[in-house]
Amino acid sequence: MSNYPHLFEPLDLGFTKLSNRVLMGSMHTGLEDQPDGFERLAAFYAERARDGAGLMVTGGIAPRAEGDFGSGLSVLNRTDQLPNHRLISEAVHAEGGKIAMQILHTGRYANNPGCVAPSPIKAPINRFEPRQLTGGEVAELIEDFANCAGLAREAGYDGVEIMGSEGYLITEFITRRTNRRDDEWGGSYDNRIRFPLEIIRRVRARVGPDFIIMFRLSMLDLVADGSNWSEVVALARQVETAGANLINAGIGWHEARIPTIAQATPRAAWTWVSARLRGEVNLPVVTSNRINTPELAEQILARGDADMVSLARPFLADARFVAKARAGRSDEINSCIACNQACLDFIFSDRICSCLVNPRACHETELRYEPAKKIQNIAVVGAGPAGLSLASIAAERGHSVTLFEAARRIGGQLLMARRIPGKEEFDETLRYFSRRLESLAVDLRLAHRATLADLIGQGFDQVILASGVSPRRPDLEGMDHPKVMTYADLLAGDARIGRRVAIMGAGGIGFDVAEFLIHQETGEPQSIDQFLSYWGVDRSMENAGGLARETPIDQPARQIYLLQRKASRFGASLGKTTGWITRARLDRAGVTLIGGVTYERMDDRGLHILVEGEPRILEVDNLVVCAGQEPLRDLLAGLRKAAIEVHTIGGADDAQELDARRAIEQGARLAASL
Ligand code: FAD
Ligand code: NAP
Ligand code: SF4
Repeated sequence: MSNYPHLFEPLDLGFTKLSNRVLMGSMHTGLEDQPDGFERLAAFYAERARDGAGLMVTGGIAPRAEGDFGSGLSVLNRTDQLPNHRLISEAVHAEGGKIAMQILHTGRYANNPGCVAPSPIKAPINRFEPRQLTGGEVAELIEDFANCAGLAREAGYDGVEIMGSEGYLITEFITRRTNRRDDEWGGSYDNRIRFPLEIIRRVRARVGPDFIIMFRLSMLDLVADGSNWSEVVALARQVETAGANLINAGIGWHEARIPTIAQATPRAAWTWVSARLRGEVNLPVVTSNRINTPELAEQILARGDADMVSLARPFLADARFVAKARAGRSDEINSCIACNQACLDFIFSDRICSCLVNPRACHETELRYEPAKKIQNIAVVGAGPAGLSLASIAAERGHSVTLFEAARRIGGQLLMARRIPGKEEFDETLRYFSRRLESLAVDLRLAHRATLADLIGQGFDQVILASGVSPRRPDLEGMDHPKVMTYADLLAGDARIGRRVAIMGAGGIGFDVAEFLIHQETGEPQSIDQFLSYWGVDRSMENAGGLARETPIDQPARQIYLLQRKASRFGASLGKTTGWITRARLDRAGVTLIGGVTYERMDDRGLHILVEGEPRILEVDNLVVCAGQEPLRDLLAGLRKAAIEVHTIGGADDAQELDARRAIEQGARLAASL
């Protein structure tokens, strides 16, 4: 019997059966907008279809050009576009999978000056003000949705998902926040939900009874003037009668200021919402957000929170998620750590989506791990993310790999990162690599600081230096004062720290150290209830948008100063989709940000600085230095002198703008080429 009986129970929709309860949720990959993107998308979905999710959903495809993300290419409204879509449906069917196409009209979120909406109200996250649709245009749009769904059927898809959440066009019609019309599409709730219901009815009429229609319904808007619970239930019931087969949970608009899928969000933080809706409708309900292990998915289904679980980013992290779970090998799953660094942050920077822990995601056709043509004996120095990535892929390709690590555990700087609240998810990455090294029989030598004697004359064909970085210690008077420590002393050791702390450097690590220090004292939200209360979510869902009327006030227990020399905005290097969360938490904990600083000295009184030329003394108990890092590659010169073929990767190669994403990708790309 399966370890996950609920997860692998088929779901019968009457005219078709889904092989399991996993939905691969819709993700915009950026490939949709590329001229050669559909071949690459076909490869992307095919890898995930084999023994994969019961149903997959494509990224959003607009029913007309003004409703796509901005490129005008992710559109399906003509028959000459069908061959592209057939590449996807045929590739998925060849692997035995099922796939629905998401129909998405981005409304006032579209990144183009011609964007449209029910009312001309600009979104706080878009620079363009939308034009108000006329009544006639609304009627035409409904026909466009039906046309798009009909074409999706012709293209060979198994169904469509109609995107009715996250603040896109359909949601904009539903709530008063964005719909101020006084015609038949605005005003009363019945008028405001007419648009989605007409779309479902018209789509059903166009595609016939034996085609999946899933409606993504915003169950919790998390914005002011959003829907309340009785409205959500009323809509869900009418979605059912209008002809949908499945209801998928949408949580939060993109403009909501509550984290819904980031690391700050506890796993499965929102399944209570779908659980509540499940009791109100007869249709199968799909739940989603921050579900990243089969164990968790099984628990959610077993306790009845949903009929299906939607996982999206976990399929970027590991194409074989379902297959590994089915085979009882879930310890081999490369888990999504909810960092957003290479998926959403890339998409919102107009880059093709990928994954921090799996650089092959969306690059399946060009980054291939083929068997090596000539087996080599490879030494790798350093088991941080760069070395782990290289060692495991080189071994997978058939090379013989010896991996030296000075510490007693693998992980490098990830062992420090994992101590930051939310970043505990890096433990999953370390579990994954640990298991990979074991199963690929990499010769792992822990607590072994490699020297030239280990690497020269030992029969290695190549040496890869992945020895990482060392923290920079700026040349400042008093740097050897006992109150001064580096971030590594704090996070890797067990240095004691006082109640008043200055942090030198406001890069990613400086912000993380601040987060670590406020967490230590204030007990930042860990449980789902604490998280919801911290961010002001109304669990009763009686209030509009599910927002609580009041949020608790923090009582900061530590006085923290976060300092930088630049006068520019703080946190510019933080993640595009997550930086605001870190900034908001520090703000609430009363962290003082001081820019334009000149450091003078550290002594018994504290840190002496100049701020815009004015002297100041910060009377702190400690100074934590987070002033960047330098490459650690002391073995390089000796190896070159001995004429050994050597490569540097990760921080050992370049410490500037280094992060785990770059380290892992660099390791993977070099390993693929050896
Ligand atoms: P390292 O991780 O430094 O690994 C190098 C390894 O080499 C070490 O284990 C070291 O012991 C070993 N070594 C060195 N010399 C030898 C030798 N002679 N013999 C044997 N072993 C040796 N990045 C992100 O992308 N996202 C984040 O959220 C994030 N958060 C972070 C939070 C903190 C607090 C910190 C400190 C870092 C964070 N980073 C994050 C950065 C990320 O961890 C680093 O960029 C990444 O670990 C660098 O990888 P690396 O393999 O090049 O080097
Ligand atoms: P960083 O981002 O380069 O920041 C270093 C900070 O130190 C800067 O704020 C810089 O600002 C200051 N600084 C540099 N030289 C200094 C000097 N000589 N004296 C005093 N201050 C100095 O580096 P980091 O914070 O060490 O982070 C390292 C890498 O890890 C980053 O590239 C980051 O991407 C990655 N990381 C990522 C995350 C994440 O969540 N994605 C989290 C942590 C780390 P001023 O020059 O203005 O003072
Ligand atoms: Fe998950 Fe991070 Fe990969 Fe995105 S980049 S899929 S959040 S692990």
